[in-house]
Amino acid sequence: MLFSRLQKLTEFKSFLCLLMLAVPAVTLADPPADKKQVKAAREILLAELAEDESVEDVEQSEPLRKARKAPAPAVDAAPESPKPKPAPTPKPKKVAPNIDLKDVAPAPTPEPPADPGSQKSPDNEDQETRDAAEEATPNAATEPQEQPIPEPEAKEPPRAKNLALLGSEVLPGTSTRLGWSSGIQIAGLSQPTPVLVVNGANAGPTLCLTSTIHGDELNGIEIIRQTMYDLDPEKLSGSVVGIPIVNLPGFEQGSRYLPDRRDLNRHFPGSRDGSLADRIAYSLFENIIRHCDMLVDIHTGSLKRTNLPQLRADMNNPTVAEFTRGFDRMAVVHSSGSPGMLRTAAVNAGIRAVTLEAGESHRIQEHQIDAGVNSLTSLMEKQGMISRMFVWGDPEPVYYDSAWVRANYGGILFSKVELGAKVSKGQVLGHIADPITNAQYPINASSDGRIIGMAVDQVVMAGFAAYHIGTKAKVPGE
Ligand SMILES: [Zn+2]
Repeated sequence: MLFSRLQKLTEFKSFLCLLMLAVPAVTLADPPADKKQVKAAREILLAELAEDESVEDVEQSEPLRKARKAPAPAVDAAPESPKPKPAPTPKPKKVAPNIDLKDVAPAPTPEPPADPGSQKSPDNEDQETRDAAEEATPNAATEPQEQPIPEPEAKEPPRAKNLALLGSEVLPGTSTRLGWSSGIQIAGLSQPTPVLVVNGANAGPTLCLTSTIHGDELNGIEIIRQTMYDLDPEKLSGSVVGIPIVNLPGFEQGSRYLPDRRDLNRHFPGSRDGSLADRIAYSLFENIIRHCDMLVDIHTGSLKRTNLPQLRADMNNPTVAEFTRGFDRMAVVHSSGSPGMLRTAAVNAGIRAVTLEAGESHRIQEHQIDAGVNSLTSLMEKQGMISRMFVWGDPEPVYYDSAWVRANYGGILFSKVELGAKVSKGQVLGHIADPITNAQYPINASSDGRIIGMAVDQVVMAGFAAYHIGTKAKVPGE
């Protein structure tokens, strides 16, 4: 039993390694088009929906204020003003090797012998790769401060500067892999978390993408891979920083939590001398998040619940509300956010931030991934970072008065509605069947609206949140 479990885990990890290390041919976007696949895709669509922020977070969310009400709170007023700069790193930085992210990364090798002073630059490229990179950018090694001199051309957009991150300098027009270490592991066992960086040739904002803060939420890993590997540094304005697996220990164990059983997404911005979760949160926030102008934190539902692809955003914050308009075909659910969430802490630090919900935990779901990638692509286009022929879909509504309908009996839940269904008050959404007495208990919609999240069919107990109904609302200012 244990053995087979371990074996499964190993296979699973290999699979995700493949995803991470990226044979570009292995893309979920091109499924063979036989009938089985179509059917499977349809089933996935039916089964998936979810959101990460817990049921309680949504229920306790402050209501959306009406337009023309009091101006946004102080934290909201400032987002456009320069945010506090991260403390300058005193040590001279090394130039990050220019890596075509589409190249297959070398297999992970054991940590090279400790190189004094290089703790903060745990890139694991071998020397050969590094040499090649330096060859390609002859100035890199010797004059890291100098920007590459472009050939004189007319009215070119402003060139980007080096992006200083995690002790490295990423030159404009290059992409690379860096490593983030929270510094709290046993030093000899430290395993840096991979960070993908594309620094565009032209100046622009920094967009950060984070996923798998909850270690069992997998769709975001693939969303980040597809999004970032599709970028051409020469054509990008600004930079994109992606951390596909923030909670690496949780990911390796298939667990939502950190090794101390804490939920990392309740500890931001963290503290230097707090709990394990506080310290990890602090390190991530100070070393990476503070460098971002915009943040999309990708999650999935928890506890066998799945969500319509959607954003969670504090729509009372005008800057955040405006930010949500850059996401194509995403329903927006107003949620003021709970203390300790990454997006809440980021917004408080003057960074435009939302949570992107995509599907269920423990699964890789093609439709959810496609929706996420499409939406991030539209965002970058909207922010002027890329220029593509992007066809926008119909705007999705904003829901704010969302409420969960709970099971009143224990038993096996069978749903009659699908994710995204429009429902009316009193409508039967599903049944709970008592497996022993054969009693059938209907679950009825509490209001008119749309199913924006729901539990997948499963055994439930009384009180289990089964259906998340969103009610349309107006965006303030509209
Ligand atoms: Zn999550």
